Amino acid sequence: MGEPPASDRIATLYSAETISDRVDALARGIAACDLREPLIVAVLKGSFIFAADLIRALHRQGLEPEIDFIFLASYGTGTTGGTVEILRDVESAIEGRDVVIVDDILDSGRTLLFAKERLAARGARSVRACVLLDKKARRLESVTADFTGFECPNRFVVGYGMDIANRYRELPFIGVIETDD
Ligand code: 5GP
Ligand code: MG
Repeated sequence: MGEPPASDRIATLYSAETISDRVDALARGIAACDLREPLIVAVLKGSFIFAADLIRALHRQGLEPEIDFIFLASYGTGTTGGTVEILRDVESAIEGRDVVIVDDILDSGRTLLFAKERLAARGARSVRACVLLDKKARRLESVTADFTGFECPNRFVVGYGMDIANRYRELPFIGVIETDD
């Protein structure tokens, strides 16, 4: 009980406590921006746990953010391919609002760039991005996050909402799957 399946050993990269402290710090940073009618847009699926913790941390900072979701799928990899498709769009009114996109990982940057451009095109007053992990080494698009949890090594991570083949989202920590070689 409480252990991952025996087939995989998962080494902790960021513990639940480390994540929690960092989420509080991110919330303080966001609160300091004095956002007008803040709208948090969480990018599904990977950011759902991060977003849930972040909005409660924002509440502790005295904010009353609205939360909505955009479900994006990114297809294709490499320097030439790669398109982002909207599986579910934001329903909230966006015009004139200060939007904060929340995503799990900033990797190639395609997903975040797409989301930023889309929300700006829909009339947001400002669009900021808050990502839990930044894999700087993998960037293909020129896009940055305004708030970053951790600069992450170039490893495939799971846990805290993030999956591999739909597994491990439930882990309270962020880890890497250990291989035997
Ligand atoms: P980008 O468009 O920046 O290349 O893609 C970012 C998305 O790819 C992340 O939001 C996340 O969903 C997924 N991703 C990138 N790296 C990892 C990883 O190490 N683990 C998991 N589970 N997803 C990842
Ligand atoms: Mg994602």
